[in-house]
Amino acid sequence: MQQFTDKQIELVTAFAAQATIALEITRQVQMELAHATRVVAMGHLTGSLAHELKQPLSAAAVNADASSLWLMREPPQIENAKQSVQRIIEDVDRASAVIDRVHNLVKKAAPRTDTININDAILEIMTVVHGEVVKNRIRVQTQLSDSLPRVRGDRVRLQQVMLNLIINAIQAMSGLTDSIRELRISTESTKEEVRVAVRDTGPGLSADNLQQLFEPFFTTKPSGMGMGLSICRTIVEEHGGRLWANENEPQGALFQFALPPTDRADLDQIDASLGTSRY
Ligand code: ADP
Repeated sequence: MQQFTDKQIELVTAFAAQATIALEITRQVQMELAHATRVVAMGHLTGSLAHELKQPLSAAAVNADASSLWLMREPPQIENAKQSVQRIIEDVDRASAVIDRVHNLVKKAAPRTDTININDAILEIMTVVHGEVVKNRIRVQTQLSDSLPRVRGDRVRLQQVMLNLIINAIQAMSGLTDSIRELRISTESTKEEVRVAVRDTGPGLSADNLQQLFEPFFTTKPSGMGMGLSICRTIVEEHGGRLWANENEPQGALFQFALPPTDRADLDQIDASLGTSRY
């Protein structure tokens, strides 16, 4: 058997160290990009999020007025004042829940590995895009399987995938004049995978677009970055899954991603590609 010389071992060790550094840099760049696209995605929502915050805050102001009026009565109406104060607390809680959800999506956090209920993750994203859905007069249909196995991975990153697909779907439909604007989100599972589908009734995907959708910097939008889908695909693949697109029947686009359920996933492989250690 041929022995390695000290020089050869030294070289291989040096290469391995360099490869590790290169991988680490790639991962960091990828995380920065993922963060940037998340911020861009949230940027599309600013208007409707402001509306969503304004509503509980104005309700709190009204309830604060009411409670001071109850207290100024002669004699002061303590019970009624207490009720108004209770409503203020609820209003403020609602506002801070909106802020927390946005903050969780945009903050820079190291990748995590969680055991995730995909349906819950989708419902949370739906509350974030609610304002945009209303503003664009989009009808939403959700068909979430009630026997969905959990998946393993980084909840926020997977939510970023959903957010991107949903914002793309909304944007695709926002230009429609008189056709139906319908966003359909469904989940289902087979033995092999947990599948999420996002359908819209927008203009759909031309054969040309289908070829390039997932390429970095491919965009047909005047102010698009063209990074969303390519990052989404990387995220899904890091989770041991796949992401693809088709024409939707009878109209629009259909984006789907599939992830291995926890009992089938190679957990160590997922943890390694997310760059985290299992806890
Ligand atoms: P961006 O949104 O910045 O353009 P993406 O990578 O998310 O970047 O999308 C790339 C392109 O894919 C879009 O510019 C658009 O042409 C196409 N696309 C994505 N989603 C849809 C959709 N739901 N319907 C039609 N075209 C879409």
